Amino acid sequence: MGKLFLVSCGLLGMLLASNFAQAQTSYDVTAGVKEVYGRLTSQPSVQKGLDFIKGDQENTVAEQKQICAIPAPPFKEQVRAEEFQKRLAALGLADVQMDKEGNVFGFRPGTGKGPKLLVAAHLDTVFPEGTDVSVKEKDGKLYAPGISDDSRGLAALLGIIRAFNASGIKTTGDIIFCGDVGEEGLGDLRGMKALFREMNDVDGFISIDSAGAEKITYLATGSHRYEITYHGPGGHSFQAFGRPSAIHAMGRAIDKIADLRPPKEPKTTFTVGIVRGGTSVNAIAADATMQVDMRSNQMKELLELETELLDIVRKAADEETARWGGDRITVEIKPVGDRPAGTQPKDSLMVQAAWASTEAIGQKPALDEPSSTDSNLPISLGIPAITVGGGGKDDNNHSPSEWFDPTNAYWGPQRVFLTILGLAGVDGVSEPLLPRRK
Ligand SMILES: [Zn+2]
Repeated sequence: MGKLFLVSCGLLGMLLASNFAQAQTSYDVTAGVKEVYGRLTSQPSVQKGLDFIKGDQENTVAEQKQICAIPAPPFKEQVRAEEFQKRLAALGLADVQMDKEGNVFGFRPGTGKGPKLLVAAHLDTVFPEGTDVSVKEKDGKLYAPGISDDSRGLAALLGIIRAFNASGIKTTGDIIFCGDVGEEGLGDLRGMKALFREMNDVDGFISIDSAGAEKITYLATGSHRYEITYHGPGGHSFQAFGRPSAIHAMGRAIDKIADLRPPKEPKTTFTVGIVRGGTSVNAIAADATMQVDMRSNQMKELLELETELLDIVRKAADEETARWGGDRITVEIKPVGDRPAGTQPKDSLMVQAAWASTEAIGQKPALDEPSSTDSNLPISLGIPAITVGGGGKDDNNHSPSEWFDPTNAYWGPQRVFLTILGLAGVDGVSEPLLPRRK
């Protein structure tokens, strides 16, 4: 795909494409951030937390397997959520609760006057009810649908809370630890939307999602999806000839949609992914439906594309009606997906802290390509946010053959632990890097 993109655009496009063709690995951490991490990593209590996480590896992996074995299909996360809530409470968080949307979270209050940092992993999987989620082990790898995405994030999060308890570290800022619902597919970030609707004082957000301890996602690809249905009178293809057709109307729309030319930068895309309609080869179609997906790394371009596309969709109904001059074709436009896009400066303190933390655990940080994660929502609101892995390696996510390799997986929670410490500040050691928004 990178190659196609290079062939199809000019010099600027080539430069931008090569920028994102692979993760970006050169970066400058400011002296101030370096200094904070120098101080943090030389603190015995911080070292104790890091050592704890390493020693807790087996326990964390065991918990990951237990979480994975509790099915959590989209919109049916409740059983896993209740179990996760119990575990948050058992670790001594304050005010542990489930909100109306089904998110579960608890608080680790700071010493006061610091920023409020929300750290979350998503509870839902992409797998429908009835999927066999039992974990199988072979050659040191774990196999199960959802074993990495996001059982790993959930387990890493619990391990980090244990590390806080074991190290006795007091942060300046408050930390909210959360298992959230609705990250995948038609879940449409409903968990994040609810959290940020209810909590208007969150200053920063970290999502722990799947595996890895190097990449940092800080740009959000937004998507808008629609199910579009044309309705007409229908009728016999011969006797009723002269009536407008729902399928012909949709064909008119698709013809024009196919010729849309959204900008290459920011990358903005569309596709008609599914079409269906009609009842018989010898009937004028009374109904036709298509599903359309639009994406962009910037909100403005996404909305511009959407306006243009929906205009085409409406006009196509009118054109088909006008063609025959009798019965009307109507169109129903139903939104089925809304994930906001957004960017933040790559040298924001949120990204800097994650970068410095990755280096501090001896790994090679890299800025990842834009993607669609729980961080989309806060990023779109202007709240600093990143998505990072929970350690280990994985592959085949979202497929029944998903696997997780736990070798050195403790690097994941270690990195997030350090990122939290830098951002929230440690009492008597370092000021919070994360600014308060109000
Ligand atoms: Zn995920």
